[in-house]
Amino acid sequence: MAPDKTNAAPNLLKMNFDLVTIRVGETGHTVDFPVYRELLSSVSPYFRSVFEGGFKEADDRVISLVDVTEQTFRIFLQWAHAQAYRSGSGALIPDISVLPASVGTESGQAAQATDISALPNIPKAQRESLDQAFDQPHYQSQPRSNDTRAKMYYHDKTWQENYRMMLESYLNVFVFADQYTVHQLRDDILTAMVGQAHTWEWFPDLDEDLLTSAYDRLPNSAQFIRFLVLSTTYCWVADTDCVARTELLRQWNPDFAFEEEYASCFDEDLRSCAMHEHLVLDKDQCRERMKNKTHVFAELIDACAKDSVSMVQEQKKD
Ligand SMILES: [Zn+2]
Repeated sequence: MAPDKTNAAPNLLKMNFDLVTIRVGETGHTVDFPVYRELLSSVSPYFRSVFEGGFKEADDRVISLVDVTEQTFRIFLQWAHAQAYRSGSGALIPDISVLPASVGTESGQAAQATDISALPNIPKAQRESLDQAFDQPHYQSQPRSNDTRAKMYYHDKTWQENYRMMLESYLNVFVFADQYTVHQLRDDILTAMVGQAHTWEWFPDLDEDLLTSAYDRLPNSAQFIRFLVLSTTYCWVADTDCVARTELLRQWNPDFAFEEEYASCFDEDLRSCAMHEHLVLDKDQCRERMKNKTHVFAELIDACAKDSVSMVQEQKKD
């Protein structure tokens, strides 16, 4: 496919500040967002063709997206603003304690993505990691021992429940970006997920509901599914009962099982570019952006983490 003409960042001086209303949610539960028409056009060929085509100035200037939730649209808007209107970098991957845990001293505290300007004494290892692209491992300011990690991840059902919901939030945003052709957002979600997985040292193991949901809502070739394939392979390398698990996988979804069996390229050096579509930025521009616009990805992780926490709370209310 030819690279898209969409620019990742619109030219502010030439920008037309026309507002349109985007109405999200199903009838009776809709939420209206006033949005700059050009902001939408700049990131999505779908919206651009709506405005250039049948969308008439005389209409009430409302576009309804019934299949999109308020939270997903908010995350998209935050992402669109972050990359379009702000420059500078320095944001780090939010700490794992961004997701509430039931044990450990760091439970329940939602950590913010850290700004380097606010960190006068950055340890050497961390300073070096800031020169890397976002999808490479970043050292946290206080490395955790294996014991602490085991407590926080493996033995903590609350944390895992929140983490599982965070994957659902990423999936929701990815599905939105797939439906409404926000090409760069799809690549950015993968960058965020890979960077987070390396830094947290936690790759998602497979979950039937998530897998089913991804295959129901995305084309089989979607790169989000590719991430699940590679991540599963990575998690299962050390598993002694691979045969039984692969058999189970075949029952869940034969397409996924096929992909999983043939995915052998996953290693510690996995970079998100292996899964990117690069429809907006080519590979070099993409790597450059991962060093210079780290806040875009850090904010995506942070927003999906917060979304997951509120989804878990909603579920508990029901
Ligand atoms: Zn890339």
